[in-house]
Order: sequence, then C-alpha cells, then structure tokens
Amino acid sequence: MAWKVPLFDAEFGPEEEEALLRVIRSGWVSAGPETAEFEREFSEFLGGPEVVFLSSGTASLHLALASLGIGPGDEVIAPAFTYIATCSPVLWQGATLRLADSESLKNPNTSPRTVEGLVNERTRAVIFLHYAGFSEGIADIAKFCEKRGLFLIEDAAHTHGSVSDGRKPGTFGKIGCFSFFANKNMTSGEGGALATFDHEIAERVRRMASHGRTAAAWDRFRDSRIKTYDIIEMGYNYKATDMQAALARVQLRKLPESNERRVNLVRLYRELLSDVPGLIIPFQDYENSANYIFPVVLPEGTDRLAVMEALAETGIQTSVHYQAVHTFTYYRKMFPDLRLPVSEELTRRELSLPLYPHMGEERVRMAAEALRAALGG
Ligand SMILES: *Cc1c(COP(=O)(O)O)cnc(C)c1O
Repeated sequence: MAWKVPLFDAEFGPEEEEALLRVIRSGWVSAGPETAEFEREFSEFLGGPEVVFLSSGTASLHLALASLGIGPGDEVIAPAFTYIATCSPVLWQGATLRLADSESLKNPNTSPRTVEGLVNERTRAVIFLHYAGFSEGIADIAKFCEKRGLFLIEDAAHTHGSVSDGRKPGTFGKIGCFSFFANKNMTSGEGGALATFDHEIAERVRRMASHGRTAAAWDRFRDSRIKTYDIIEMGYNYKATDMQAALARVQLRKLPESNERRVNLVRLYRELLSDVPGLIIPFQDYENSANYIFPVVLPEGTDRLAVMEALAETGIQTSVHYQAVHTFTYYRKMFPDLRLPVSEELTRRELSLPLYPHMGEERVRMAAEALRAALGG
C-alpha cells in the first residue's frame, strides 16, 4: 500500500550518512567513543543526570528494575494503557505487576488517584508513562512516590525534548528510560538510554548491560593497564553500537527543530478538529509536549474499524496507541478479573492520526478532513 499520508515517516540527511561512515571508517563499531560522546550530550540535554546508552528502550526499563534490585516478592505499579514494553520487564524480574488505570479520557496518564489503591507493603516502584509526550501529573506522582518511599521509574519513550515545570521528563524520579526506536522523536534505529542522578545505579546499569563485567572492551582498548575483568553479578548484553550512537548524536541535534514542527502541526490538527461533536483530544499543553503521536478519542459508539478503513481508502494510515495491557490474550490469563474502565474505554475509542515533523500542513488538513468526513460531517 502506498499511503498518501503514512502514520509516520523517517527523514535522514547527509549528516546521518556522514556520521555512519565516520564510525565505519574508524574501525571501531561496537560501544566506544561515539557512545561516550552521546551519553555526555544526552546528559547535558537532560540537565545533568548520568546517561547509559543501551540497545533498546525495553532494555533500559529492564535494567531500571534490575539495578534497583526488584525481584520476586516485590510489586511494581505500571500503567495498563501503554506499550507492552513498559510492563513485560516487571515479569522478567519475577516481580508482581499491578496495573493502574488512566486518570481520564482527557488525561490518559496514570495519577496518584489511580495508583493509590494498588500500594501495599510489597510495593517497591511506580512506572509512569508520559503518554504521547505529555507529562500531566508527573509532579504529583513524584511527590506521591517520595512520600511513600517508592522508586519512581519514568517511561520517557514518548518524551524526548519536552519540558514540564522547567524540567525534562526522565529526571523527575529515580530513573528515566528512553527509547530511540525508528518511529520515536529521535532514533538510532533501535536503541535506548537510562538516565539517573544516582551514580551507583548508573555504574550498576553499565555493568549489567555488559554481562556484569567490571571492564568493557572499550575500557581495555583504551587503557592498557586493564588486562582482565571480573564478573561480579548477573548481567545481560544490552550494549548498543557506536553506529547507533553516531546516528543518535545527529538526531539529538535535530530534535529541537523537529519537535517545534510537531507542535505547529498539532496546533493545526487541534484547530481543525476542535468542533467535531463528541471527539476528545487528550491533554491541553501541546506546546510543551514532545507530541510523539497525535491521539484522539473517537465519539462514543463510533465504529473505529470502519473509520480506520474509510481513512485508509483515502490513503491515510492510522493506528491505535494502545490496546490496554490486561486485554491481550497472554495478560488476560494473568488478570482474569481486572477491570480498568478508563483504559478499556481508551482501548475501544483511541485513534492515532499521522504525525511526523516533515508532514506539512496540507497532509494535516487531508487527515483532519478525512476524519471529519468518516465521522459523518
Ligand atoms: C517504544 C516504547 C518503549 C520501548 O522501546 P524499544 O526501544 O522499542 O524497546 C517502551 N515504552 C513505550 C511506551 C514505548 O512507546
């Protein structure tokens, strides 16, 4: 299918090509100098936390839990209305997953109100997703976690470059987790980063990303005094490559401008759709959001599949972000009686319209018009 307006489209230029060539020609393609530079730059961008560049956002979520020592007998609260990667690492650690509902159709993030009833003496951590790039409620959740002595882990996979109360998402809690998957606001193909102001956690994450080793290959190449290494704890292989880091460095430089373009496109979408009866556009503060996707909540009783088909017929690709975790086959078995009314309603009614920085106003008009037509005027 050749979409006239795809859901997402990537755009790379000569800067990305040059960055990749530079790494290949250097002869060192695994984690090395580019990785160190990217970690420094991303840290500065976030306001100073330590940053560990990893093979995926999922890996960063896994190492967040592992480095905090979360395991069997512990409980972790996570949103139900999210991508599965927010939740599955909790189960890998052998911990118990507790799913929290979204605050409202207008605010699909979780909140102290939706998390509170899940806290007990076994609760260790709360994972918060800045859905679609919006941080509504993060300050309240941070306060809530601090008061109860819970670790706050932020899933900041949608939030590169947004700001909330003068702070960058990913720095409100103990650990922030970023993804650089191909369709995120900035990409390294696959990739992720973990950010924390806790030096010991950062060191542990670095080790756990490299089999629990005391010294990585690059350390030994760089410093001839390091001749051996020890394995001092359980670890994984979650390292990324210098090719990914070089790509991420270029993408980070382009991020402010591409996020600004997203804001302008979202402003237009919101204007064009503001008077569609029964349509809910979540959140308000899009100017400070990363606007990773443009989600709308369709009017009650709408046949979403029919709307998606109608838009597809005019060449416009749409998607659903997300189907609530507990409604998937594998998880239904784990949570047979769980009812989360808001997440379930979002699961039925959410629709994501196309959004990417170089989309242009004309395509926004086409998508908005097509949605209006599909909804009957
Ligand atoms: C993309 C994403 C992730 C994980 O990212 P990967 O880099 O693909 O592993 C985690 N959580 C959310 C909400 C995401 O959208």
